[in-house]
Amino acid sequence: MVEVVFLGVGEAFDENNYNTSLLATFSQESASTVLMLDCGFTAPMGFWKQGLEVDALDGIWVSHFHGDHFLGLPAILVRFLEEGRKKALTILGQKGIKDLILNSLDIAYPNFYKKLQFQLVFSEIEPNKDYDIFGLNLKSAESAHSQRNLALRIDFPGKSIYYSGDGSPTRESLTLAKGSDLIVQETFSIEAEIFGHGTVLGAIKMAHEGKSAHLALVHIQRKTREKVFNSMEYLRKLAGPLNLILPEPNDRIAL
Ligand SMILES: [Zn+2]
Ligand SMILES: [Zn+2]
Repeated sequence: MVEVVFLGVGEAFDENNYNTSLLATFSQESASTVLMLDCGFTAPMGFWKQGLEVDALDGIWVSHFHGDHFLGLPAILVRFLEEGRKKALTILGQKGIKDLILNSLDIAYPNFYKKLQFQLVFSEIEPNKDYDIFGLNLKSAESAHSQRNLALRIDFPGKSIYYSGDGSPTRESLTLAKGSDLIVQETFSIEAEIFGHGTVLGAIKMAHEGKSAHLALVHIQRKTREKVFNSMEYLRKLAGPLNLILPEPNDRIAL
């Protein structure tokens, strides 16, 4: 079974919503893997509210190097230190992820890296390759964003999820999303094309073409979110049998 919890659904500077961040749990019989997808500066609050055991999280995926997607890492790591975490934590992201995270930690909490009582394992994920980790298959593709962003697809026996990170879809990311059960797409605007961002209408088209069952709209521009909320009846008609979701923080979906 795959379960996704929306820890945050906001864009970078939304006063009402934590940064977009997902907690994905992949369970099979007694074993499960827990991944956090993106960890911006306000995402740790959404994560801590889940009240997980200190060793529950296996890994964190960072889609790109914008603060609303990775700057929560220092806080997460130092709280793990405070709470006595012992299990290794894997940090996944594009080339350069290790330097980025270690530098961020050092700026936020100088000299704390050597105090950590658990190992940090860095794993670079790049497009055009398959990665098998924790019994999951990971693939990525670049979207069109102002900072190089990788959309991620995670395949687990019988189920797959696609998380866009930021950016408008590209031919490569549309191909990657095809056939995934759940698409979580950054949709900064409803239909206005803003360079480097996705749209709600584009995401619906993407999910239709990819024959996905579920589409979740996240990272909506803070002033646009209410408009999307008020347009959901119309948008659901456009979506047809597609399960169109405008998640609130802490909402969850099981696949
Ligand atoms: Zn962002
Ligand atoms: Zn960004």
